[in-house]
Amino acid sequence: MSAEAPPRPPESVLQRRLALSDLLDLQTFGELAKGFAELYKVGVKVFDEKGNRLADIKVGNGDFCGYVFSFAEGRRCCTATVARVKEGPVGPVQNARAPQVPPGLPLRGMVTVPCFTGLRYLVLPILWEGDTLGRVVFGPFTPEEMGDLPPSLTDLTPGIDIALAQGHLAKIRRAPEQTVAKVMLHFAQLLEALVAAGQKTYLTSQVHIEATLESNRDLEAQNRKLEALNIRLKEMDRLKSSFLATVSHELRTPLTSIIGYSEMLSEGLVGPLNPEQTDYVRTIMDKGDTLLKLISSILDISQIEAGKVRLTFDGVLVSDVVTSALSSIKPQAQKKGLMVDTKLPPRAVEARADREKLRQVVVNLLSNAVKFTPKGGWVQVVLTDLQPQLELGGASGYRIVVQDSGVGIPADQQDKVFQSFYQVDNSSTREFGGAGLGLAIVKSYVEGHSGVVRVTSEVGRGSRFEVVLPAKPPAPGSVIPPPASDGGAQVQDRF
Ligand code: ADP
Repeated sequence: MSAEAPPRPPESVLQRRLALSDLLDLQTFGELAKGFAELYKVGVKVFDEKGNRLADIKVGNGDFCGYVFSFAEGRRCCTATVARVKEGPVGPVQNARAPQVPPGLPLRGMVTVPCFTGLRYLVLPILWEGDTLGRVVFGPFTPEEMGDLPPSLTDLTPGIDIALAQGHLAKIRRAPEQTVAKVMLHFAQLLEALVAAGQKTYLTSQVHIEATLESNRDLEAQNRKLEALNIRLKEMDRLKSSFLATVSHELRTPLTSIIGYSEMLSEGLVGPLNPEQTDYVRTIMDKGDTLLKLISSILDISQIEAGKVRLTFDGVLVSDVVTSALSSIKPQAQKKGLMVDTKLPPRAVEARADREKLRQVVVNLLSNAVKFTPKGGWVQVVLTDLQPQLELGGASGYRIVVQDSGVGIPADQQDKVFQSFYQVDNSSTREFGGAGLGLAIVKSYVEGHSGVVRVTSEVGRGSRFEVVLPAKPPAPGSVIPPPASDGGAQVQDRF
């Protein structure tokens, strides 16, 4: 499997050059600029480094500029002045000069850009940590010393109505250049404070976002690894089931022959045997039988795990199934001198079920009860009549209870005994045979019928297995589910 190269993390905010709009809360900033413009009656424009307009407050110059703009040459010069102010270098070049201010005033790179109309603009660069982030433009304002309209305007706009133009001009703030410059420096200080606060907030939030994204990337990488592992585990589990199925199938065929030939020998079909030979052959048959059961269980569970088992529901007399299961375990119970008690309801219990699977459920529970009950104990099987069952959401159903006076199951292991291959005593010297599959099969078959199985038990006093099954289970729409790994018994609602 070729490892995919992890995606390169994006550049950190700490490495990136920040834009003015990143650092300013534009709404607060817009209000500040508006407040300033209204207070001092001078227009304020703010551009970022790329020339994007972040604030634009016009005060008083609309009529005058509009009138000048209506003359062809006026329009051309006006456009050129606006471009100079907005995009030209913030330095004393290309028609700009240093502002006329008292000596010693820190100008912070401010320049004056005169307009051909006699008006003026002040332009201040916005500097932050050595970078120019944009510019502030104050104006246009009328310099205090301005008298008549200058020839640079009147020459270019033949036919201009001087009185009208003067009237419009009167609406524009008239002030000494140094006053506007001082106001602008004050504005610059506030702007600087806003940028400082903005930078702090922006960096904090961005670093936080980056950290979250980083841990998300880590989690995603771990998830991908887990998914790959999960796929591998499923594949290995599938291989295990298929290996078990093949091996048990291959073992079953010769074993059936061994048992068959032993039977023929013990029945004397190929000549009489002496008592010792008969004894040996019986032992072969017994052991072969045990082995066959074990192999059948392995085959069953591997087919369940591979999802290959299908249930076929039919009308079944449950009492008959219970009686038939009992008869198959009676010989072992008698051998151990166990008392076997059966309680069946007076009326036959009729339900829809897979007869063979249901029989196996009862056989597995009964053979465990017999196996785990010492000599002289008792085993009881109870079948109840059909009635509404709480565990089945009130649907009509029946219960099969198998209890014994045997060794019992410790409380902390009662939910584990339904897992495949789980045995309370898993030591190599254990007293009881088996592979730990009987209850896993029981659980799968019961749940395949949409039923529930559970156990209560006390060590040294016995166990009680209770199976609750619906009279009319929903038709099995699919194969029965593989056994759950937690082994907990629960109502299935899959069908
Ligand atoms: P096996 O009986 O082949 O070991 P099962 O799946 O039927 O496998 O049972 C799992 C384990 O649960 C048994 O090994 C045993 O420890 C415990 N167990 C099952 N039934 C009983 C019972 N009636 N009494 C005591 N322990 C039981």
